[in-house]
Amino acid sequence: MNKDMQRIYLDYNATTPLRPEVRDAMMPFLTEAFGNGSSIHAYGREARNAIDTAREQVAELIGAKSPSEIVFTGSGTEADNHAIKGLTELQKSRGEGNHVITSSVEHHAVLHTCQYLEQRGFEVTYLPVDRYGRIRIEQLESAIGDTTILISIMHVNNENGTIQPLEEICQIAQGQDIPVHTDAVQSIGKLDVNVQELGVNLLSLSGHKIYAPKGIGVLYIRRGARLANLVHGGSHERNRRAGSENVPAIVGLGVAAELAKQDRDAYTQHLNKLTHRLREGLNTHIDRLHYNGHPEYCAPGTLNVSFESVEGESLILRLDMEGICVSTGSACTSGSMEPSHVLAALGLPPRLAQGTVRFSLGRRTTEEEIDTVIAKLPKVIKQMRTLYRG
Ligand SMILES: *Cc1c(COP(=O)(O)O)cnc(C)c1O
Repeated sequence: MNKDMQRIYLDYNATTPLRPEVRDAMMPFLTEAFGNGSSIHAYGREARNAIDTAREQVAELIGAKSPSEIVFTGSGTEADNHAIKGLTELQKSRGEGNHVITSSVEHHAVLHTCQYLEQRGFEVTYLPVDRYGRIRIEQLESAIGDTTILISIMHVNNENGTIQPLEEICQIAQGQDIPVHTDAVQSIGKLDVNVQELGVNLLSLSGHKIYAPKGIGVLYIRRGARLANLVHGGSHERNRRAGSENVPAIVGLGVAAELAKQDRDAYTQHLNKLTHRLREGLNTHIDRLHYNGHPEYCAPGTLNVSFESVEGESLILRLDMEGICVSTGSACTSGSMEPSHVLAALGLPPRLAQGTVRFSLGRRTTEEEIDTVIAKLPKVIKQMRTLYRG
């Protein structure tokens, strides 16, 4: 890419930039307000108050009953680990059961944690999904048994934006007294995420997917839910997660949560409008393409497209040369030619999965950027198709 070329970032599901308001709120805590939230003196109290405010802001965003249900973690990944390992370990030690139900399209933070549990003697059911990545409620119902101790199903998929029927999942689980965890990292800010209305017991979210910094996450733990700890040490986070709090990141996440709540309708509209524009443009100028997100139950901002007779990895590199930054099926599997586990679970033939690109839009995405993509992409696809060897 030549230096003067404007880069176009369409990979917001991988990470988002800090909002200026978030950075401004963090700044004092990176400089003079450096206190440790556990200290009793003025510096400590200043940090403690800032953490408390952030906890309220996050609780408010997701409709938690009390800020005490919010636990700050080191990432979305850690929140997923804490929920799944913490709950299953305790339940198993009490002889309550050893069976976990999840889906085949979870983020690796959940999937690999469940695989780890299998090595530790747990049984895990990985529910299959339909061609757009939704689980089937009947299959969930028949997977539930006497030994089931946890259901962990994500809210919105990071690769294709598909929304899972979380309310229904929770209703079924409640009827059988089984706790539900959800990875809501990709739904926060894009959907109305309310833990009461959804009925979840545990929910994970991540700072850097909602314009706060990387390295901060949250686990919502409904009052009364019992979990073993992941990290042991001091009595931080009401004895749930030891380690001196990352005050600047927590403050940033709090502000990002407040802004996400304020802006949600406008943000959703912005994403919907631009996603629609991109899709229309692709439809008009490129043939032999397929959309992998759910036609009805799909979060705004994500467009997962398979181009026939194109090799996705080379396509991404070509687009990068044009200044367009997108992802293959999954950012985590880039560098390897394996189709992502999500695309495989959709039943996408490997040849089609190989030609898959994820466009994910965000706050700074403009109509002009979308139009530039629509102007450049058809030519690139055409070139790549002439080179395609299969
Ligand atoms: C990004 C992401 C995570 C991981 O969050 P980190 O804060 O990067 O650890 C987990 N689940 C989903 C769905 C994600 O998109």
